[in-house]
Amino acid sequence: MLDNLPLIVANFKANKTWDEVASWIQSVAPKAQTFPGTVVISPSMPFISEASQKIKDQSLKIKLASQDISKFEQGAATGEVAASQIKDLAAYTLIGHSERRQNFGEDDKILALKVQNAISAHIEPIFCVQGGDSPVPQGVKIIAYEPLFAIGTGNPDDPANAKSMGQKLKTNGNYLVLYGGSVTAQNIKSFLKKGLLDGVLVGTASLDPQSFLKIIEAVSK
Ligand code: PEP
Repeated sequence: MLDNLPLIVANFKANKTWDEVASWIQSVAPKAQTFPGTVVISPSMPFISEASQKIKDQSLKIKLASQDISKFEQGAATGEVAASQIKDLAAYTLIGHSERRQNFGEDDKILALKVQNAISAHIEPIFCVQGGDSPVPQGVKIIAYEPLFAIGTGNPDDPANAKSMGQKLKTNGNYLVLYGGSVTAQNIKSFLKKGLLDGVLVGTASLDPQSFLKIIEAVSK
């Protein structure tokens, strides 16, 4: 069962200490509680466990995503985190973020293994692509369309283009499609209007809890 839409996914990347993640959760939790969609946060791997415990202890309406998952299952893979090791902690995982593809040499074959492992562990992959023609591995239900020029640049895609990309991706399967790339409180409505896109992935504008709260507020109006 997928969570309520829209999905608003905060990707912290390699930012924040645990204290900062905890205080971010504390600030955003009350708004997330009444938000009709779903707030998903993607902190660095070491904080997934503590974040999960905090969410459970306080019955918060926030879901967790890991920023990546190993292509290996549990075993001799030093430094890796296998999907089955975090299956009770994270509901989602990002797979194929452009920073992973570019900086860690992740190709279609590796990404397909990651998707398989996530699905076997009942973790929902959010599969990141840069265009409407990118291959999407079997079993993926959620795609994040993230054009390279828009990531971290303050230069978002044209909402009409993002929507037609979403439409194109949806012709290949029954996917939910998120948009990612310089989303802010000012532009989020234009991406989610008319319901063609099912959510957003937010990097830079998610780091400050106050700016993320404005994003949720903009969608709630
Ligand atoms: C991202 O890296 O997934 C992203 C969407 O970043 P930003 O919001 O900073 O463009």
